[in-house]
Amino acid sequence: MTSSLDCIFCKIIHRELPASIVYEDDIAMAFMDIRPINKGHVLVVPKAHYAYLHELDEVTGAHLFKIAMRIDRALRASDVRVEGTNILQNNGRVAFQEVFHVHLHIIPRLRGDQMRLVLRTVPTPKRSELDATAAEIARHLEM
Ligand code: 5GP
Ligand code: ZN
Repeated sequence: MTSSLDCIFCKIIHRELPASIVYEDDIAMAFMDIRPINKGHVLVVPKAHYAYLHELDEVTGAHLFKIAMRIDRALRASDVRVEGTNILQNNGRVAFQEVFHVHLHIIPRLRGDQMRLVLRTVPTPKRSELDATAAEIARHLEM
């Protein structure tokens, strides 16, 4: 299994750093974020080291999402306050990625909490431009 010596999440996976583990199996591990946005903020990671989502095989990717869904359900059944959740996956420094080992955030949300995602859109494109972009992406889809 690929591993990176200077990766904090690899160190957690190999028990070289402490973490509060929620779940683990052969492929994935889920543990509490050390700087939670709200109580109950969980990270789901593959046990193998991949920096970015696009490097990951689809079986592992699908497994991570399945575990994230189960954590989301467990949070809602637990004592942790959950009014909504954000499932967040940051890819690349420009997209706020700080730890370069793929991870999904499951973030419980509460009305009035401090999390902010400022979503300002570009001007609404013409349908022809949307169609052209859709076709360009579709051309590169590996099915
Ligand atoms: P990113 O910005 O890369 O999507 O998120 C990285 C997350 O990892 C952050 O929410 C940060 O709080 C969390 N984190 C950073 N270092 C550690 C650590 O040593 N242990 C744990 N459990 N979480 C960490
Ligand atoms: Zn790693």
